[in-house]
Amino acid sequence: MYDIAIIGGGIGGLMAAYRAIVNDPTLKIIILEKGMSLSKRHCPAGKNQKCIHCKVCSITSGYAGAGAFSDGKFNLGTAYGGTMGEELGEDLAMYYINQVDSILEQFADDYPPMYHSNEELKLKCLQNNLRLLDMNVRHLGTDKNFDTMQSLIDALEEQGVEMRDLTEVLEIEKMDGCYAVSHRRGSREAEVLQASKIIISTGRSGSDFVIRTCKKFGIRMDANSVDIGVRVEMKDIIWREFSSQIYEPKILYRTKTFEDRTRMFCFNQGGLVSAENNHGVITANGHSFAQPEKKTENCNFAILSSIHFDGDFQKPTEYAENIARNTNFAAEGNIMVQRFGDLIRGRRTNAHRLSQSTVRPTLQAFPGDLSVVLPYRALTNIIETIYALDKVAPGCANDDTLLYGCENKYYSIKPKHNENFEIMEGVYLIGDGSGITRGLSQSGAMGIYVADKITGREVNA
Ligand SMILES: Cc1cc2nc3c(=O)[nH]c(=O)nc-3n(C[C@H](O)[C@H](O)[C@H](O)COP(=O)(O)OP(=O)(O)OC[C@H]3O[C@@H](n4cnc5c(N)ncnc54)[C@H](O)[C@@H]3O)c2cc1C
Repeated sequence: MYDIAIIGGGIGGLMAAYRAIVNDPTLKIIILEKGMSLSKRHCPAGKNQKCIHCKVCSITSGYAGAGAFSDGKFNLGTAYGGTMGEELGEDLAMYYINQVDSILEQFADDYPPMYHSNEELKLKCLQNNLRLLDMNVRHLGTDKNFDTMQSLIDALEEQGVEMRDLTEVLEIEKMDGCYAVSHRRGSREAEVLQASKIIISTGRSGSDFVIRTCKKFGIRMDANSVDIGVRVEMKDIIWREFSSQIYEPKILYRTKTFEDRTRMFCFNQGGLVSAENNHGVITANGHSFAQPEKKTENCNFAILSSIHFDGDFQKPTEYAENIARNTNFAAEGNIMVQRFGDLIRGRRTNAHRLSQSTVRPTLQAFPGDLSVVLPYRALTNIIETIYALDKVAPGCANDDTLLYGCENKYYSIKPKHNENFEIMEGVYLIGDGSGITRGLSQSGAMGIYVADKITGREVNA
């Protein structure tokens, strides 16, 4: 019998396990992860840049979770990356977010400095109807993030936390005073273990498991909003004024035609555009390396348009997935890329036009026409945002700016929970799978918070 079974070995699960074992070294803790151990995770698209639809995606699944190959950008605040500030109150949320930073510092060699926000750039944006978000950022970079996660995993194992890879949890069952956790390793027969407490930390890739569990136990679920957009790539020099002074320009805009909110975020200086596979649906993303020799001459960021369905429509994720799936279909199973100049002239980008572009694409994508796949409203919002950004970073709306479609952010449904993030007695739901967090820091913070609750550690922030 385990004291705690953690489902999912992403940052939420790892931070929860670490805090719990530090708080009480006598605890018997197991982590069950459907993907590979961190050292074995490998994306074949890395070699030929084309997604081959692996059964379990090594980019989103495995120890260290969806963040394993990420840019390792830890946003140390509550302005975005989740709603922990609303859930816990600003002070307590900040305490737990800063705890993530302190834990990472213990496991990172040569911990990078913090990037702070900049008043002059904030003013420049305000003067152009743009809102630069205030946030301190710690950028580990893909390589250092990977190593830091491995050190954290090693420490967990040294402290006796049992870690199983390639083990998918199928369902949980309520028993007398504990839970039965049914799980399967690869193609073997399903097995069952028992645990007093369960922490579900299955991230976005485990949303089907969360929905199944909620349906089984009659737990109410609320729909979340969805963001639809593109990954934008251009010459790095265009954003140098910003990227040399703040780590990451995250900018909000209210569009003129629809008065919708769009956001520019996930900025990667000298970065690469990448492909992400969510249940066979390929969407764009981006990352960058900390080492100067691995930098490219480009930068990339996302521009997303938020869509919130009110009323009875309960399937915003499926809606956005269908747009992405349709884009993959029109791009022969790939991500679609279009020059901004072609988009506004109403013509598709073809291989010839792309080859003439001064911006060299860092992802091999299918040249096409985004206006045939993205909804009019989202596309109008994206185009207006690019023109607005061009006022603070001239060159942003150049003809050769590349748009990769699509990049969607699906937020998990939000199951009803109490103040401890328990969805039923002894079952805690944390991280991106809870619909509450959308990033590494807040997911990790939620894991630490829940571990404190389970082990009875009182914090008065
Ligand atoms: C390419 C990319 C780049 C990103 N860059 C950043 C960044 O720079 N900064 C930032 O803040 N955020 C970034 N993000 C988002 C960030 O990675 C996530 O917010 C974060 O990983 C969420 O952590 P989590 O532990 O909640 O979930 P996850 O990291 O998704 O981990 C959940 C784990 O649960 C496992 N799992 C799911 N279902 C089951 C099951 N039934 N049984 C067993 N295991 C299961 C999955 O395999 C997965 O490993 C990025 C994401 C991607 C994909």
